[in-house]
Amino acid sequence: MISKAKGTYDVLPTESYKWHTLEEKARQICVLFGYKEVRTPIFEYREVFHRQNEQSDMVTKETYNFMDKGDRGLTLRPEGTAGVIRSFVENKLYVENPLNKLYYIGPNFRYERPQKGRFRQFSQFGVEAIGSNDPALDAEVIGLAYAFIQKLGLKGVRVRINTLGDNESRADFKDALKKHFEPHVDTLCDDCKLRIEKNPLRILDCKVDQQHPAVLKAPTTQDYLNDSSKDYFQQVLAYLDAANIDYEIAPKLVRGLDYYTHTVFEIEADIEGFGAQNVLGGGGRYQSLVKELGGPDLPGIGFAFGMERLIIAMESENIAFNEDKVNDIFLIATDTTARIQAIKLLFEARQQGLVADMDFVSTSFKAQLKSGLKSNAKYLGIIGESELQNKTVSLKNTTTQQQEEIPVKIAIRSVKSWLGK
Ligand code: AMP
Repeated sequence: MISKAKGTYDVLPTESYKWHTLEEKARQICVLFGYKEVRTPIFEYREVFHRQNEQSDMVTKETYNFMDKGDRGLTLRPEGTAGVIRSFVENKLYVENPLNKLYYIGPNFRYERPQKGRFRQFSQFGVEAIGSNDPALDAEVIGLAYAFIQKLGLKGVRVRINTLGDNESRADFKDALKKHFEPHVDTLCDDCKLRIEKNPLRILDCKVDQQHPAVLKAPTTQDYLNDSSKDYFQQVLAYLDAANIDYEIAPKLVRGLDYYTHTVFEIEADIEGFGAQNVLGGGGRYQSLVKELGGPDLPGIGFAFGMERLIIAMESENIAFNEDKVNDIFLIATDTTARIQAIKLLFEARQQGLVADMDFVSTSFKAQLKSGLKSNAKYLGIIGESELQNKTVSLKNTTTQQQEEIPVKIAIRSVKSWLGK
């Protein structure tokens, strides 16, 4: 037996309805907010992700890179944003509309150490709004994430928000962190030793050094914001208040990726027994990514949720998913001639919008009946010798156990009206 690759999982037929629920609700929210779907390739040329300014672990250590037969360097996408921006630039989406509101749902790949809520292939639902510096747009994007969480029915969830300020504030903050951490270089973890030079912001969200005294006492972004960055953040908060969105300010929040400026945020689960991987989603504003990928100087803001973690969160809170539809009618035929009639009705039922099925494995009446009951069908449609002769079908309501012989011609119509369809 060959097993699945490490860090991957199967969505079995008994679970897939959970994914459908999540995806449907994501799409519904995006329609309400005016976001349109974009589907980009699962692999891109490696330059899309491996950019000079991107030194995050995710890109430098965790990507799946390979050469194709034409000697082209490719990377399986580790996140959604860079591919969406590549497509935005390549297809010149900015020419038609000054603001593009996009969303995506699909798999990403990271070579991480698998654990509960962390996989090597995982799925994200994310949005990107590209083309405006309006702080109201930050509130709209955070509001979309918030509305999605509410639509799923999740209660134990909070929105945490911070600002990194504009490029100037961010650079000052970076210098201050460098100075702050340099005397502690020997006691930081190996990764953080390197981060001091490359990107000291990342030390603040290092999992290993979380409780390091120097991390606990580190300066926060707020101390290094220039006036316009402060003002920008205040406006974002005012819009969030106006939109009735609950949030808390998290001064140490920096997020993993290197392209963020101004607003960053996370949606965190505060659910008992949820486990360490409690960040359901996160995002932020980016100033130079579009330009870095060869496009015009346009800002963007976006977020991504991990679908697996949302499912775990919903399960932890015992939230019901929309179950798959059960059969409205299950047809049972006692011999080959009756089977022809059954197939006819089966297809008519489906054409009329009824969920319908029959047994394709067993031919004995008893076994077919068993399959019909196991499928939880609301009605059984039985065609035997006498029904064939009478040009009827016996319709049995599996809840009331009542059975009626109905002319074939009006059988499906009758079931439909009994079901109120
Ligand atoms: P990021 O792209 O790292 O900002 O992650 C956004 C969200 O994607 C996280 O909050 C998680 O919900 C999800 N996520 C990221 N990496 C993984 C992973 N390896 N396995 C499962 N979910 C992940």
